[in-house]
Amino acid sequence: MSEKPDVLVIGGGVIGSAVAYFLAAEPAFDGRVTVVERDPTYATSSTALSVASIRQQFSTPENIRMSLFGAEFFRSAGQYLAIDGEAPDIAFRESGYLFLATEESLPILESNHHTQLDCGAAVALLTPAELRMRFPWLAVDDLAAGSLGLANEGWLDSYALLQAFKQKAISLGVRYLRDEVVGLARQGNRLVAAELASGDRLEFGLAVNAAGPRANRLAAMAGLDLPVRARKRIVHVIDCPQPIADCPLVIDPTGLYFRPEGRNFLSGISPAPDQDPDQDPDSDGLELANDLFETIWPLLARRVPAFETLKLVRAWAGHYAYNTLDQNAILGPHPEVENLYFTNGFSGHGLQQSPAVGRAMSELITFGSYRTLDLSRFGYERIIENKPVPELNVV
Ligand SMILES: Cc1cc2nc3c(=O)[nH]c(=O)nc-3n(C[C@H](O)[C@H](O)[C@H](O)COP(=O)(O)OP(=O)(O)OC[C@H]3O[C@@H](n4cnc5c(N)ncnc54)[C@H](O)[C@@H]3O)c2cc1C
Repeated sequence: MSEKPDVLVIGGGVIGSAVAYFLAAEPAFDGRVTVVERDPTYATSSTALSVASIRQQFSTPENIRMSLFGAEFFRSAGQYLAIDGEAPDIAFRESGYLFLATEESLPILESNHHTQLDCGAAVALLTPAELRMRFPWLAVDDLAAGSLGLANEGWLDSYALLQAFKQKAISLGVRYLRDEVVGLARQGNRLVAAELASGDRLEFGLAVNAAGPRANRLAAMAGLDLPVRARKRIVHVIDCPQPIADCPLVIDPTGLYFRPEGRNFLSGISPAPDQDPDQDPDSDGLELANDLFETIWPLLARRVPAFETLKLVRAWAGHYAYNTLDQNAILGPHPEVENLYFTNGFSGHGLQQSPAVGRAMSELITFGSYRTLDLSRFGYERIIENKPVPELNVV
């Protein structure tokens, strides 16, 4: 096989491609980067099937700051990722999230609001009367407040972002290899080579696990038990004949969400924990649960009476990489297998975190430490010590 890469990124979705781009763009990094991707169509990748939205409304300061950087990056992606003066269009539409709270969840909403303001987020708490005035189509009778993002939130074209990272990385010298890593050779506390489905063997200096919902399989090849599992999420595309002006991405107290997508809306709901089994990304298909929409529709119509007249256009399902310990990212090297770096377990917020993760990994790999945003609380040590860093969720 050709030259040995200094960094082998395993998985070329939005995370792997962001890592490759930020490494290649870092002037102090002068190594060779190869990305190995088993399916360059990305047909069943999390990235291609994402709802592709970004919020600054988290409770963990690191997550808030990662999204603030993400929003700034998305706004200027055309400049950062242009090739020979040609700017990609990732269709970033800046529009707020609106988290709705009942009396019960109000203390969490308020506590998160203060953390968000401390981190520099642009958010406003609205009373039910203010909500009614701003969003006359919204039912507010059961609500105590809403938290609205005033900037730094919105949605984008996830596939366009992935391709923009990838093409820019290639233009900077990164090699993409169509193959699948099926084994990892370990000597003591280091990995030395990847065995590929093609039969080739690829030696490398350092490997990055960017395998999305397959991340635990890759970790198992190195003898590690990564607490990340594939979970299925279903997204409905709906058409509403009545106008719903200036609709943000609404998060209902029931866990339902909806947001505009062109002239339609996207909507979904996270399943209850006891109805959210681990999936096998190879054998568990992405078939749809026909009865799910029957659960969602009344919730939609309860919150927005105009949704009474909606029509289901289509639906799709995707797997996302769920961190079973605390639903937050796992980032950086393993304490024992020192040249295996993790970028896994984003649990539904990896797309928006891709710029921050790419930058963070390029810093760790190039300098041995974080330079801009300290993400060490998301390190692998917390997994070994069983010390979760959980989000305080309103729903
Ligand atoms: C329905 C849904 C809605 C979502 N909504 C949002 C949202 O609104 N906002 C947000 O921020 N995030 C959202 N997410 C999550 C987000 O899409 C993911 O966190 C993100 O795309 C993860 O990117 P990734 O590169 O880690 O994974 P992927 O995109 O899955 O890429 C991993 C790649 O690794 C490859 N691979 C795996 N194993 C190997 C191997 N052994 N050898 C070679 N290649 C391998 C795979 O083929 C795949 O292409 C959502 C996800 C889903 C499914």
